[in-house]
Amino acid sequence: MRPAISLRKKSDGEIFSGREKSWRTSCRSIGALSIKWKRTKFGFECGKVVVYTFVIPHADLLPICHLSMFYLPLIVRKSLSVTMNALLPCSCVLCHAHQSKILCTDCQTNYFRRATSRCKQCALTMPPGANTPRCGDCLQNPPSFDTSIVACDYAAPRDQMVLALKFGHQLALAPLFARMLRDAILQNTPDSLPDFLCAVPLGENRLRERGFNQATEIARPLAQHLGIPFAVQAMHRIRETSQQSSLTPDARVKNVKNAFMLDEAWLSKVKGAHIAIVDDVMTTGMTLHEIATMLKRFGAEKVTNYVFARTPPHFY
Ligand SMILES: [Zn+2]
Ligand SMILES: [Zn+2]
Repeated sequence: MRPAISLRKKSDGEIFSGREKSWRTSCRSIGALSIKWKRTKFGFECGKVVVYTFVIPHADLLPICHLSMFYLPLIVRKSLSVTMNALLPCSCVLCHAHQSKILCTDCQTNYFRRATSRCKQCALTMPPGANTPRCGDCLQNPPSFDTSIVACDYAAPRDQMVLALKFGHQLALAPLFARMLRDAILQNTPDSLPDFLCAVPLGENRLRERGFNQATEIARPLAQHLGIPFAVQAMHRIRETSQQSSLTPDARVKNVKNAFMLDEAWLSKVKGAHIAIVDDVMTTGMTLHEIATMLKRFGAEKVTNYVFARTPPHFY
């Protein structure tokens, strides 16, 4: 059974906003718990408690806990988180070792600690000894975005984490991706943070089908880490597009052409701004190029991509 509709509403960022706080523990899920609190003149009142159950194919039968709370004091939220972690332990998403973190220390060290020299503009790995900040492709055909920062390459076994978030509904991975991206950002450009973040929007049909937008799920905690506003509603996908990964390079260009539009309320805020676009994977970069083109048409001064994983060229 898939998660109930109110979980979807939370995930698309439209229904819940403002001071809502949420966190999740565990990854391989059989259940989800949502607690909503509301403020009354007498204090806090537990408004609604919902328990969802759903099964993820090929996952161990370990639980997930999703707590969504309004206006709950930090100390209460922290104690609840500690309690739920103790009650509902989880396993490492890569090696499946049973422990308290989504990614164990060994996997973090083995797969995420290697410093890589990357193209400043498209984040492709540069050959050893390269003495230019941009790769040959970016020098010959510069994309519309100015900078890209990624946390890792989209390669085994890290690609499993992206697939687990996107298709396995393991939403607990999104805050982890956000933390890794924050570290990469602060390492690369700590002094030139953007004015606000946007997430690559999904089309309505895809959002309804999946139940959440993985880019939004990463962008929300990332914005909190960096202390920058997250413009949830700034951009829309105005027509449905095919999965870029299923298309040839030429078809990808046509597929995303004019697929994105700014919300009217954000037209004036984009002018002269430095905007960061958040996504889970960057393959050819065509989607991000199209978004940056649209933003610059409306006067954006600089567009930066914050993407969890970058696909090496021989994979597309
Ligand atoms: Zn592990
Ligand atoms: Zn490049």
